[in-house]
This record gives sequence, structure tokens and C-alpha cells, in this order.
Amino acid sequence: MEAMVLRENSLIEKGPLERMELPVPVPGPGEILVKVSACGVCHTELDEIEGRLKPRLPVVLGHEIVGRIERIGSAPKRFHRGDRVGIAWIHSACGECHFCREGNENLCPEFRGTGCDVNGGYAQYTLAKEEFAYPIPERFSDAEAAPLLCAGAIGYRDLRLSGVERGQVLGLFGFGASAHIVIQIAKYWGCEICVFTRSERHRALAVKLGATWTGGVEDEPPKRLHCAIDFTPVGETVPKALALLEKGGRLVLAVIRKRDLIPPLDYSQHLWDEKEVKSVANITRKDAREFLSLAAEIPIVPEVEEFRLEEANRVLLLLKQGKIQGAGVLKMGG
Ligand SMILES: [Zn+2]
Ligand SMILES: [Zn+2]
Repeated sequence: MEAMVLRENSLIEKGPLERMELPVPVPGPGEILVKVSACGVCHTELDEIEGRLKPRLPVVLGHEIVGRIERIGSAPKRFHRGDRVGIAWIHSACGECHFCREGNENLCPEFRGTGCDVNGGYAQYTLAKEEFAYPIPERFSDAEAAPLLCAGAIGYRDLRLSGVERGQVLGLFGFGASAHIVIQIAKYWGCEICVFTRSERHRALAVKLGATWTGGVEDEPPKRLHCAIDFTPVGETVPKALALLEKGGRLVLAVIRKRDLIPPLDYSQHLWDEKEVKSVANITRKDAREFLSLAAEIPIVPEVEEFRLEEANRVLLLLKQGKIQGAGVLKMGG
């Protein structure tokens, strides 16, 4: 099978993913072999490629996978051959530790990430655990469904952890794949949404999707923010977002790594009055399941730009430069 493989850490500008022929993997007990149809491109891949996150190497990246089941490794429990399924960032967790028992399998010490600890979806085939695959609602095409599996499902978790309530003001910092889905849920929940991004194209999309106000990080929105979600990879947005929070407000940091340090915080300006900061790590199966059914109910309209598998290096560079509108998706031929 054809795959784009990362062999060593490097800046994405150097085009480090190599096109290679690999054997089609064989599913073991409890595993399914999935013929990949579409795989979303996520910021986390940039962290893996550039070494801020340590994947096992060599690795096939990609954790927003949609495809059909080609083979099942043992007696099938939930799916049949030919079923369309989605695979997300959570490849597996131990199921026994206290985090898993309390439903926080995203924090399990044995947590394994798809396209990080095991090979992912930048390939024609991939393996997954049957227990960690999800049926995809019919209304979404393969390419539309791909970004729902990370950008969407993690965005849903971000939104839940922000504690935002109906009618409140929500601030979104950065407006890429995840934020453009989060805004649609928040709108459905009756929130007012302020979007902070320097890209004119991203601001136009935000307005189209229901933003009540758009501006840059330096700008002052008309109202204080009850909650905010920071999707940007830079440190400087953290004090800026905290300064705009309402008393008792919460800032959620949605990225897995920041590219640079968070500047010093001033206690009275940024934290006093019971402001909170919370990070979000990984997702649970419950997040993915709940979000996929909510996405079909709203319905979420994912904005996707499609590319071919062998264009992965270029798509990731465009992503780093903030030039992807909505979500970038690799479509497999044949
Ligand atoms: Zn992701
Ligand atoms: Zn566990």
C-alpha cells in the first residue's frame, strides 16, 4: 500500500514526509483493517513532525480517518465487513486504571494516540481496535466526516470543558479546522460568539457561520467573555484572552503544544476575580460518539479543502501558514 511516512523530526518546510510502499497490515484479535477513504490534516501532526510531541518513529501520521472495514481480526462484535467507520486520536486506553474507570480514558497512562504511538491514516489502509471505531452518520460524505473526528470531537470537548451556557458570550482565538466547527455548536446552543483572528479570509468565514463580532487579538470586543477557547499555537494569546474574560470566566487551551512560552501573567489583570485556565488533553470515546450524533442533529456543515495523499507535505505547510480554509483533508485514490 502507499503511505506517507515520517522517519525523523524536521521542520515541515523541508517536506519530511516520504512516499513509501508498505505491506498492508494484518488485523490481530479485536482489530479491524480499514481501507482509508479520507484522512483529515491536524495541527497535532505539525507538533509530531517538528518534535514538540514525540511520536514513535518511523510513523504513518493521521488521526481523522474515514474508511470501510476490509477485514476483521476475530469474531466481530460491533461491525461488519464493508461498514463505514471513523477512527479518532484515541487508539486505545487500558480500561482498568482509575482514569478509565471514571470515564476519563483520555488521561489513562496507557493512552495510545492514532498516528503517533501506532500508524494512522496517511495511507491506503490502517488498523484500529474495533472498540475504538465509530459509525459515521449518513448525512456526511467521507471528506466531510474526517475533520469531525478530531477538530470536531475535540472542539466539542473544549466547549463542554469551557462550561459555556446558553446565551453567554464565548471568545474563540484562532479560526481553523476546530473553531469553525465549535462556532456552529455554540450558535446552536444560543451563545454570542466573538472570533479573534488576523486572517481576513478566516474572519469572513466566521461571520458567515454566525460570529457576532470579529477582530484581531489586539482589538477589544463589545462585551466581556464568559468563556474563551484558545486554538492558537502561540503563547501570547493566553494573557490577551485572560484580560478579556468576565469575572469567574474560564479560558480553555485547546492545543496539545504551544510553539513558544506563555508570557508572564499579571495576577490582578489576568487571574484575579476567580478566572480559570484549563487545558484539554485527548478525547474519550464518549466525546466522539456524542459529538457525531450532535453533528448530524444540528447539522454541522464542515468546510473542507481536499488534497491527494502525496500532497501531505504541502497541505501541512499551508496549515502552518494559516492558509487552509476550514479543514484540510487527504482523499485516497482507488
Ligand atoms: Zn487532531
Ligand atoms: Zn486506563
